Amino acid sequence: MSAIINPVVEICEHREFDAGVDVNRLTDDVGKLTGFMAHIRVRCRGCGVMMKFLGLPIGCHLDGATVSVGAEELRAAIAPHLDWIAPGKAPEFRGFVARQAPVVDVPVSGEIIKASH
Ligand SMILES: [Zn+2]
Repeated sequence: MSAIINPVVEICEHREFDAGVDVNRLTDDVGKLTGFMAHIRVRCRGCGVMMKFLGLPIGCHLDGATVSVGAEELRAAIAPHLDWIAPGKAPEFRGFVARQAPVVDVPVSGEIIKASH
């Protein structure tokens, strides 16, 4: 199957952009502040294509950075200052990160012959 590519996107040089940021203040069940997240999206003004954020895992990491499925939204943990989470008291991992399954070569018969790592 080939991807359907919008001809406007294909000829656009992607020179100007619009960006949107949602900043979220996170609280626990009793309303105690637990963190902040910025969700960032960037769209080409010329063709409308959403820019992809590269090199980050899919997920939602409350103490790091991830992307949405499709990588069109950067989800970044933010804080008012670097020691907002006290040194040595970093919380256990909060959130989730999706990992890509290993690529498996499957012959027409459906039998697995080799797994790539
Ligand atoms: Zn463009």
